[in-house]
Amino acid sequence: MYISLHKWTNIPFNIFNMSRSKKQNSDNRRSFLRKIGGITLGSAAAMAGGVSLANAAGIKSGDKVKLLSSDGSLIEVDRDDISMASPVPAPENRNREGIPGKKFVMVIDLAKCRNAKKCMKACQQEHQLHPSQHHINVLEMQDTEKTKPYFMPKPCQHCDNPPCTFVCPVDATFKRSDGIVLIDNERCIGCRFCIAACPYSARSFNWKEPKDAKKYAGQEYDIEKNVPQKKGTVTKCVFSADRLRENKLPYCVSACPNGVYYFGDYNEDAVTNGTTKETVRLSELLAENGGYQLMPELGTKPSVFYLPPKNRLFKFDEAKNESNI
Ligand code: SF4
Repeated sequence: MYISLHKWTNIPFNIFNMSRSKKQNSDNRRSFLRKIGGITLGSAAAMAGGVSLANAAGIKSGDKVKLLSSDGSLIEVDRDDISMASPVPAPENRNREGIPGKKFVMVIDLAKCRNAKKCMKACQQEHQLHPSQHHINVLEMQDTEKTKPYFMPKPCQHCDNPPCTFVCPVDATFKRSDGIVLIDNERCIGCRFCIAACPYSARSFNWKEPKDAKKYAGQEYDIEKNVPQKKGTVTKCVFSADRLRENKLPYCVSACPNGVYYFGDYNEDAVTNGTTKETVRLSELLAENGGYQLMPELGTKPSVFYLPPKNRLFKFDEAKNESNI
């Protein structure tokens, strides 16, 4: 880009005025050279630092760029005013590290789910959720017109390749070494990119004040429980990470009266049933019962496995009316 001399030095044209005295011209020439020298040095330093000459002299290119401001409005700035911000370091000691050596998995036996929804209720109570909010949702499913409907609990799948974490611009959501995907609601800016990226619709947004907000006010934030919840941030299932630190099963798993949930460690190849407390081999449970993951073709590698709804012992319509939620 060509920039005229008078423009980038801010030197008025009259220094070249030949009608002035010789001394005036000489003084002006010295002043001019001083300014040029200063600019040259400044420019060299600026160039060395990767700043354009025009930018170093405070001249804007005029190229406008549209940006989303922190309050959600669209603003326009000169391209020369943009510089890269240093990444904000993630806070330490916020339980961003997983439990060493662990890789948590959940198995959900669809043949046993009869819509009791105790899992949902326990989760809502522990995670400060309104009745309309859920980290785990029991869905009514029917694969084809000829097959029977069934109930399917659906939590966050704690994917090993989680698209939600890749799109977060502030590192508020992340995957730990033990497989759990968490959200730090003190970093979440509510952009909801993660909600759009999740193919399992596992995340939701706190549009209004959380349930019992006054009761939780002033309580220290627990990232492993995601409590207190915060208006304007995203929330989802956390695999009861706080309970796992105490070697306990997740709230939903323990609350189920029907033996639907198994939870355990992939590395140990062992999972425990939340109702019967029986511990079995994960690999055998999956192989013998046709275990599968949701939408494996996406490559998200969920940590939640399902056993198909075979040999059910209850009538769907009766179970449909069983829940009191
Ligand atoms: Fe992220 Fe959705 Fe996978 Fe959970 S299910 S880890 S929210 S992509």
